[in-house]
Amino acid sequence: MAEPETNALRRLPAVATVLATTGAVVLLDRHGHAVTTDAIRRVIDEARKALQIAPTLAPDADELAQRAAHLLDARTPGLRPLFNLTGTVLHTNLGRAVLAETAIEAAVASMRHPVALEYDLDTGSRGERDDHVRDLLRELTGAEDATVVNNNAAAVLLCLNTFALRREAIVSRGELIEIGGAFRMPDIMLRAGADMVEVGTTNRTHAADYRNAIGERTGIVLKVHTSNYRIQGFVADVGARELAGIANAAGVPLLNDLGSGSLVDLARYGLAKEPTVREAVDEGARLVTFSGDKLLGGPQAGFIVGDRTLIAEINRNPLKRALRVDKLRLAAIEATLELYRDPDRLAERLPTLRYLARTRADIEAQAHRLLPAVTQCLGEAFTADVGECQSQIGSGALPLDTLASAALRIHPRGSQQALEGLTAALRALSYPVIGRISEGALLLDLRCLDQADEASFLTALGELDAAALASHRP
Ligand SMILES: *Cc1c(COP(=O)(O)O)cnc(C)c1O
Repeated sequence: MAEPETNALRRLPAVATVLATTGAVVLLDRHGHAVTTDAIRRVIDEARKALQIAPTLAPDADELAQRAAHLLDARTPGLRPLFNLTGTVLHTNLGRAVLAETAIEAAVASMRHPVALEYDLDTGSRGERDDHVRDLLRELTGAEDATVVNNNAAAVLLCLNTFALRREAIVSRGELIEIGGAFRMPDIMLRAGADMVEVGTTNRTHAADYRNAIGERTGIVLKVHTSNYRIQGFVADVGARELAGIANAAGVPLLNDLGSGSLVDLARYGLAKEPTVREAVDEGARLVTFSGDKLLGGPQAGFIVGDRTLIAEINRNPLKRALRVDKLRLAAIEATLELYRDPDRLAERLPTLRYLARTRADIEAQAHRLLPAVTQCLGEAFTADVGECQSQIGSGALPLDTLASAALRIHPRGSQQALEGLTAALRALSYPVIGRISEGALLLDLRCLDQADEASFLTALGELDAAALASHRP
């Protein structure tokens, strides 16, 4: 028999009573007083509303503490680690490059202890935060000088603002790129305060186009490496060397925005050639910009290397202060760059390069090794095998360059809906597993799964509830 409504409402325990239960003591220890009390208030409120709608027995204090625990446990940290089995090595939405161990250690040490961020240990006087990476960048790129900012978008913005504020910036119509996250070259120009002067056409731009456009008001000439699309057919562009000649003759700096830009020749590791920063410097661009977390394999950062006088001018721009990087990243950048001084061991030590350099045969062998255990975790509702696929180097960065790879291929025995259920369940694991759907199958491309992480991958999959997956329950 349901109690009369008012009676049940009166029996609802008070917050203090719920706080005194053993269940709540655990919550207090884990989440603290404020959050726990708040959760208890919420479940009491919900219980009160439920009782007003449908009179029944009032939950007791232990029951309410349990409901509060469910509420609090439902909040999982958003930035928790996951398995990137999408096949995209530099996945912008998944945080791009995974850092090298030495970079992680350096960042952790810089968090735990004071560091000589802007302090010269030789003289005991004030130092420059860029000093920690300036010499390494000079050595690795051949440039006279270097500076570091928040990301490559910031590097381009800062160069444009320093040299083309209320002046003209010249760029080919074939290079007015948009990259992911609303980085559109014309918008950046506008916000940098530069008047954009477009030259040439979408498919063809000639040296004369640049020459005719350069004038009194020209502050900078821009060359943008178009890594995320290709124009084919009747095409022409002006190479960086020739363009540098044209710009230098007019006394205007050429900025070559490499986007990804590599510090080593990737052909050495069996990969397709990307322009190296050293080549771009050699070609005569007085400024070269590139990302820290694309092919370079470090933390998010933007590098500007080039002429000493120009870098000095950039460093005097007040915007530099707003775009600078913190000690965590500087420590990680320094350690990452340090690895490039030993190219022989780079592929071993730098995860990005290690993943990119893996052969299909190696990945296929790993897939066969894991197949039986994975099949078991999936249960009756799915079949799995090993299939060939193509990995991508980057999502926003280099979507056109693919690598021969292999994947665990999972097909539903029943409807396609089961596959949706599986991808959702994989995302909900305490260590989420992200794959990609292709031709009615879920592909788990193992390119980015280190052998050392195989055991934790299988442990994560062990959380799957095969029975629930078979019955389409969430
Ligand atoms: C990726 C890219 C950028 C932006 O670099 P972020 O480090 O992502 O800010 C700028 N220009 C080009 C050509 C790029 O490829």
